[in-house]
Amino acid sequence: MMTASVAVIGGGVIGASVAYHLAARGWRDVVILDRGVGPGEGSTGRATGGYRAQYGTQINVRLSLLAREKLCRFEAETGVDPGYSRAGYLWLAADEPELAALREGQKIQQAEGLSEAVEVGPDDVARLNPALATDGIAGGVFCPTDGFIRPLRMLEGYLAAGARLGVRSEWGIAATGFSRRPDGTISEVLTTRGPIGVAAAVNAAGPWAAAVARWAGVALPVTPLRRQVAATVPCDLLPETMPMTIFAGDGFHLRVRDGRVLLLWPTPGVEGRPFDDSVNPVWVRQVTGLAHRRVPVLRRAEVDPAACWAGLYEMSPDKHAILGPAPGCPNLFLVNGSSGHGVMHSPALGQLLAEIMSDGTATSLDVHALRPTRFAEADPNPVSGLL
Ligand SMILES: Cc1cc2nc3c(=O)[nH]c(=O)nc-3n(C[C@H](O)[C@H](O)[C@H](O)COP(=O)(O)OP(=O)(O)OC[C@H]3O[C@@H](n4cnc5c(N)ncnc54)[C@H](O)[C@@H]3O)c2cc1C
Repeated sequence: MMTASVAVIGGGVIGASVAYHLAARGWRDVVILDRGVGPGEGSTGRATGGYRAQYGTQINVRLSLLAREKLCRFEAETGVDPGYSRAGYLWLAADEPELAALREGQKIQQAEGLSEAVEVGPDDVARLNPALATDGIAGGVFCPTDGFIRPLRMLEGYLAAGARLGVRSEWGIAATGFSRRPDGTISEVLTTRGPIGVAAAVNAAGPWAAAVARWAGVALPVTPLRRQVAATVPCDLLPETMPMTIFAGDGFHLRVRDGRVLLLWPTPGVEGRPFDDSVNPVWVRQVTGLAHRRVPVLRRAEVDPAACWAGLYEMSPDKHAILGPAPGCPNLFLVNGSSGHGVMHSPALGQLLAEIMSDGTATSLDVHALRPTRFAEADPNPVSGLL
């Protein structure tokens, strides 16, 4: 029978980061299992690649700052450029209540040392993104060190750096269950290629994580949520350096990537089909209409239906990651529920979980707010509508 010290179920950017950080801390015989034929078939390959530290809770700001520190030395650490570019994130408020909510978040950010995040008035907004129709914009917040990253390069970097330290990545292999001892711990990961004897398993299965946890009798509150992206034909109407621009009220946001303008606007997903990741043409027309009103120059750029895509966020009830040993199954480790922030937080989450698995506790950050038991304890993190 095949054996491993740790089987990481899911070879997206989070599983790859965990495996690399474990190996970097001296773990041997770590294996990544992924049912995809190669890297990037899950959410990581669908992400648009935003990075921000402008969040509304202390823990998310801290995760972003730790991740940013690691992004700055990512190439030295892994040999791959993660594409971190400081184009900034510009959040726009339509009225005083929205502005007040953004200010609340900024207080938390400033207290964490993100002093470059500032409030901006309508004139600053026009300067930061001259393409915007400024009517209806009361102001906003801007952080110049937010910006963009390249999800697939980060995945490639962690896989390559892990491989150099002995991590094995197995593609085209699905985990299908666990064998458990009478005390509830996992002895084997069952797979489509037979059982693998393990000392520990990591659930890094992205939007599919709840099913994996269920095999260990663990109720993990992670649900998929479809996110659609409309892409214009290649054009030079807006610069690649344009900040990520977000309307706080309805979440509509846009950026330029590889010569196309990407338009996003959150919607609830498909009723009764949570894993449906098709693109709805009605949504494409709606988001295009929003873009035309808010960024008039985009009336000159067609949306390219063949370039539009959708993927799945991995939502937790409080939109924060779930990190640590699974309740009732101490050798199953959870790194789930990043709720659409998983690429940007993957450098931090991988390091933190490796610390927890190696030392019993995370040392880089206090991650109490991310503990898996918080929902059962009725002590979730506050959910901020805007950030
Ligand atoms: C449209 C869109 C835009 C996004 N934009 C951003 C962004 O700007 N910034 C950001 O930080 N995040 C963004 N995200 C979120 C981000 O993509 C996720 O948070 C992140 O990719 C999660 O990484 P992961 O490794 O947990 O999941 P995944 O990449 O989904 O990896 C999970 C892997 O598990 C494998 N798997 C599942 N079940 C099994 C099984 N039983 N056996 C074997 N393998 C299994 C899957 O094949 C998959 O490869 C976006 C997501 C979408 C959909």
